[in-house]
Amino acid sequence: MAFEFIDAQLAQRQQDGYYRQRTCIDYERDGVIAINGQHYLNFGSNDYLGLRHNQGVLQAWVEGLAQFGGGSGASPLVTGYSAAHRELEQVLAEALNRDAVLLFSSGFAANQALCQALFAEQGDIIADKYMHASFIEGATASAARLRRFAHNDYTHLSALLSKTTSSHRLIASEGVFSMDGDSPDVAKLVASAEASDSWLMLDDAHAFGVTGEYGLGSIDAYQLSQQQCPVVMGTFGKAVGTAGAFIAGSHALIDYLVNYARHYIYSTAFPPAQAVATLHALSLVTQGAEREQLHANIAHFRARANQEGLTLMASQSAIQPVVVGSPTRAVALSAELANRGLWVPAMRHPTVPKGTDRLRITLSASHATRDIDALIDGLLLAQDSILANADHSEHDADDHGTD
Ligand SMILES: *Cc1c(COP(=O)(O)O)cnc(C)c1O
Repeated sequence: MAFEFIDAQLAQRQQDGYYRQRTCIDYERDGVIAINGQHYLNFGSNDYLGLRHNQGVLQAWVEGLAQFGGGSGASPLVTGYSAAHRELEQVLAEALNRDAVLLFSSGFAANQALCQALFAEQGDIIADKYMHASFIEGATASAARLRRFAHNDYTHLSALLSKTTSSHRLIASEGVFSMDGDSPDVAKLVASAEASDSWLMLDDAHAFGVTGEYGLGSIDAYQLSQQQCPVVMGTFGKAVGTAGAFIAGSHALIDYLVNYARHYIYSTAFPPAQAVATLHALSLVTQGAEREQLHANIAHFRARANQEGLTLMASQSAIQPVVVGSPTRAVALSAELANRGLWVPAMRHPTVPKGTDRLRITLSASHATRDIDALIDGLLLAQDSILANADHSEHDADDHGTD
């Protein structure tokens, strides 16, 4: 029978406790989301600065729509590249001290495009083990030999570098890691790249809009020159609150991508109105009021969690994971929190390494201090209630975990 594996694979996921389902958000207002008629405080969004609902950003979308229409109408090399796209590229390039910038419909597409264009024939990619799936997928699909170094382990990175044979080496890491919320030692990455004549690439999806004096991510935070970090990828769907992504680098790199990156060439450009809105959101990012609020919220969360004896990871970012260790327990905790009006997604294998299933709390500038206090109280109560249940049914739950 054709594709009979589909049912079997789904049943396997169910049995292992890793089966996934989508949750439909009916509406959202002031950081509260409505799902199936219930309301929850949202601790599961990457909208770190609360810009998705910012009045100025919404107004910019509307003005962009009036000027350019709903969509771009074509791929960028045909007639889809507008003055709005060009302005966003130019503003970003100048802010990041790069020659040029290229816009993509998503970070996923940008990572794929980069790997496939740079490694159409051969080369070596040496990537942090915790790099995002979009990069790993792109690297795997490219002609490069992909090696992965243990998370933030620069000795291992050096060891892997010494095994490379081509003269085209790309070292890849993230500004802020999406599941752990921690950051690499960027100086060590730069030194490794210099010592091995490799290029350093940073995926700044969770750093762009958040870190650095102007909120422009790793380049801003560590003052990285184009030579030190020849490729940076950032996204607009997280802290910036719109959608899309960019790659910044030299004139030659961007020109090469325009000519060879199939994800760019054969895909409709994102709506110009999105570029107008993104440009406005960027001006708010650099002004910094929302970033200041976010960082105050992160500090408050960590201080209160420490006070209450909750175990946190070494993250100073908006991503604050609470590792639970088993997929069933992570899902049970998330459900218990939902009962208390708190929406905190569980992240399970294969999104995170086996045995590190967790709650992934994301904080935002739109949270009030009392929201964060409610989260801490909820975590403590949910933990107690799960532990009490676990005494009776832990064995069962681990053997027959379902959603
Ligand atoms: C979200 C994310 C991406 C993908 O970006 P999209 O614009 O959502 O496709 C890439 N890398 C990392 C680290 C991410 O967290």
